[in-house]
Amino acid sequence: MKVQRKVSATTILEVEGATARACFEAMAALEAVFHGYEVCGVCGGKDTRYELQHSRDMKYTYYKVRCQAEGCGATFRFGERTVDHVLFPQLTDDQGRAKPNGGWEVYQGERKSASGEGARPVGR
Ligand SMILES: [Zn+2]
Repeated sequence: MKVQRKVSATTILEVEGATARACFEAMAALEAVFHGYEVCGVCGGKDTRYELQHSRDMKYTYYKVRCQAEGCGATFRFGERTVDHVLFPQLTDDQGRAKPNGGWEVYQGERKSASGEGARPVGR
């Protein structure tokens, strides 16, 4: 069976599965990534885009939604579960504390890590 769900003015999700449970699980995974990021959590802008960023050595891929509003550029990042590569919204920081702005962050500067990862948040 196929299940479609319109989650915003611009997004319709569709999943296919043999059972309602399979469809439910697939829809839940899609909604966690493709619903709720239509509006920037910092400035309220409605022009957001999904972006990929790769480490220089191409070993790592970073999944994020970026606000396109001039002067904002806030991003919402997704993590990737190691065990099954499922994407999930990063709502907490490295210490497990809830991020402000619903997880949207404005980068204060850039810092290069050994892995070649690009922009990272500086300070708190
Ligand atoms: Zn914004």
